Amino acid sequence: MQNIGNRKWRYLKKWIILIWLSLFLISVFTILNQLNKSDNTENNQNKKIQGNINSNTWKNSINSKLQPKIAKQTIIETNKIRDIKKPEYDFFTDLSITKYISNTIHFNDLQYEPEDLITLKWEHLINQKSNSKLRKIALENLENMANAFYDNFKTQIAVVSAYRDYNYQKWIESNKTSCIRDKFCAKAWYSEHQTWLAIDIFETSDSKSFLNNKQYKKYYDWLQENAYKYWFHNTYQKWIDIDWYNEEPWHWRYLWINLAKKLKENDESFWLYFSKNK
Ligand SMILES: [Zn+2]
Repeated sequence: MQNIGNRKWRYLKKWIILIWLSLFLISVFTILNQLNKSDNTENNQNKKIQGNINSNTWKNSINSKLQPKIAKQTIIETNKIRDIKKPEYDFFTDLSITKYISNTIHFNDLQYEPEDLITLKWEHLINQKSNSKLRKIALENLENMANAFYDNFKTQIAVVSAYRDYNYQKWIESNKTSCIRDKFCAKAWYSEHQTWLAIDIFETSDSKSFLNNKQYKKYYDWLQENAYKYWFHNTYQKWIDIDWYNEEPWHWRYLWINLAKKLKENDESFWLYFSKNK
């Protein structure tokens, strides 16, 4: 009976050890598994962080690729602004075709005289002072304008005045019967006629009598429509409050083609354009 009891006990002991070993192994396996899982989670988190870093790096690299473009655009925009502010034409050099002259702005060189001066002499043009001169480029275009004028009216353009020298301008300035100083007539060295680019056509004593003359009015209307094609512009057309001079429908000034055209299209006077773009 005792042997049977011992055998049963040994048998039971074996199972207890087996179960305990199994439990131990399961515990160890579970712990190892948990450790492995936490490692993976950490790795994944690291990967995510790395991913984010990579993604940020990518964004940064995109930004860094964009930045020069943005910087370039900014430069271009700044240049555009600078271009807008930069005068398109040279208003201040004496020799410039677009030299601006008013009662406050005169020539830099009071002895200014260009070399390309030619006496007005053309079949479709009357030079009333016979010795009046203009700069070559202005005269060539005046001749073309005179041809077109003749085709339209079958008459010559009468140039009453072109270049005026200092003494003559001084005489005009002091002749107060026909000239209100600083307003109606330019002072010496402040006259557009001294550019050697300006002419007076079919002049009368004042703008009213000029425009009331039916024939002159027709000429004026034609010139207003066509003179810009020959680079000429009626300088004083907006009256004294804007142009610093009274209206002078006879006074035409040779200008650069793009500027003469622009003024015509915008219905601006040279002074208006100059004051906005100088
Ligand atoms: Zn004039």
